[in-house]
Amino acid sequence: MLRVFKKFINFSSEKNKKYIFLSLLLGVFYALCNVLRLFSIYLILDSFFKGELNQQVILIALLVMVGGLISMIVLKYFMTLFQAIAGYTTGANKRMEIAEHLRYMPMGYYNQNSLGYITSVATNTMENLNDVATRVIMMVMDGLLDTLLIMVMMFIFDYRMGLIVLGVVICFLLVQMWHQAVGRKVAPIKDKADEALVENVLEFSEGIAEVKNYNLVKQASAKIYKSIQDACDINCRMELRFSQFDVYEGIFMKAGTAAMSLIAVLLYLNGSITNPAIVIVTIIASFLVFEGLTRAGSFSSLIKNVELAVDKANKILSEPVMNTSGEDYTPKTQDIEIKHVSFSYDKKEIIKDVSFKIKSKSKLAIVGPSGSGKTTMAKLISRFFDVNEGEITLDNKNIKDYSIDSLMRNFSFVFQNVYLFNDTIKNNVRFGKDDASDEEIIQACKKAKCHDFIMSLPEGYDTVITEGGNSLSGGEKQRISIARAILKDAPIIILDEATANIDPENEDLIIHAFDELTKNKTLIMIAHRLKTVKDADNIIVLDDGKIVEEGKHEELLKNNGIYAKFIQDRKEAIGFKIEQN
Ligand code: ADP
Ligand code: MG
Repeated sequence: MLRVFKKFINFSSEKNKKYIFLSLLLGVFYALCNVLRLFSIYLILDSFFKGELNQQVILIALLVMVGGLISMIVLKYFMTLFQAIAGYTTGANKRMEIAEHLRYMPMGYYNQNSLGYITSVATNTMENLNDVATRVIMMVMDGLLDTLLIMVMMFIFDYRMGLIVLGVVICFLLVQMWHQAVGRKVAPIKDKADEALVENVLEFSEGIAEVKNYNLVKQASAKIYKSIQDACDINCRMELRFSQFDVYEGIFMKAGTAAMSLIAVLLYLNGSITNPAIVIVTIIASFLVFEGLTRAGSFSSLIKNVELAVDKANKILSEPVMNTSGEDYTPKTQDIEIKHVSFSYDKKEIIKDVSFKIKSKSKLAIVGPSGSGKTTMAKLISRFFDVNEGEITLDNKNIKDYSIDSLMRNFSFVFQNVYLFNDTIKNNVRFGKDDASDEEIIQACKKAKCHDFIMSLPEGYDTVITEGGNSLSGGEKQRISIARAILKDAPIIILDEATANIDPENEDLIIHAFDELTKNKTLIMIAHRLKTVKDADNIIVLDDGKIVEEGKHEELLKNNGIYAKFIQDRKEAIGFKIEQN
């Protein structure tokens, strides 16, 4: 319990720590006021039995009681306020910290699993931290404090009563330790089920078109239903398992209450306790003393959730980020050099000791079978990931020595799969350049051959695109992404199989759009059907992560190697197609 408390404190920012400690300090006063109430009852009873009860005693006792009650209300207000501030600001700060962290993580981190994980952390986990975490910690701590202070009072009245309370507290803590140990074992299983649920829902909603298209509703629903059922089963089983601990705790506490009353009366009868006031206060206290523990117990089952939430957020924050200490530098040329670069996503090496040069303003084509590492190579050049060995330079400066922002200014990408944001067309294009005027946006769209189709939409440039751009055809989305790249006007353009999915009518338009985009630029294109591949200044042929051929179209044809075979035997081409005419 204390371990989780410490973990949460370390997790919170300095300012929030203050709020948490302040709230705990108020908790101590709150518990003191609680004890004062009992004390005032004792005061009255004691003077009553001694025959000294007078108005003054009653007044003092009343003042103590009323003062205590009012203080408790005020204290409770501030405790709750500080808890809420600490909880919500910790949640907000962590969300921002995570967002900032994600910005500098290698792109390789992002895949279906990690997106599910990030989504679940940013939503469920953070919600847990915001609201539940501080409340749980405070309730448990305050509950324990309440009981402990009454216990101290019992020790002052009669040590034997104090010992009974101590015995119950120890039993309670032992049950709690058992409870937490079981919780630690079960919580990750529950969490996995919850995470799988988020992942499956994400997958289902993203692939809904495919699902309908291929009439897979039954299979896809079965998968979702299964994960819903799993999450439900696990949560039910967990609750069932945990409820036994409540029973044990209840037994100890009720037994403690009975023992206190009974033993106090017995001790009085055999003359061991002489003051009847102590007996009566003990009986009253026996009903109050374990209230704090009950509260602590009912919230403690949530402690493991707090721990899990902290661990999950920390897991993202501990993922290594790329070194981003580079300087803000604008290269004078776009000469790129790849020197003995090797790279693997995990264990399997994908790029194997590759070296080549790209001259400023030249056009490079990368061709090779599917899975040979073309996309990976292009992403390494723009530092989506860091190379494992070797180096990549831009204008003779290692790309790691550029700040991420200043490096990214040099690149525009057009990928096969275009992602458009749930925003207006105008704003989607504007992602290329934050401060672009409407006129600049229209010019870029004209060059990208998408102006006409945009104008034919009911709201023109203000038409809102649904998430992922599913309301547009592949070719339309592609041209909007080209307009975005034209607007960005970066000196190096990377095209990755950008026309692979495009229908013939769109292809002509897109080829014109590409011509506009790549005029006077350094171009890295991964082979697709563009005729320009054969006009490239240099072609490298990748196979299994290695360069197997390099040169111009004619030279490579003469070589009669892989490239020539691909060209001659287009029908057999697996990973890429090139039109020869
Ligand atoms: P190409 O573009 O030539 O088809 P890629 O560069 O996309 O090839 O992929 C090369 C290899 O790297 C493939 O075996 C692919 O499965 C693997 N790969 C690609 N992206 C990732 C990733 N994010 N994580 C792990 N492996 C990947
Ligand atoms: Mg690829």
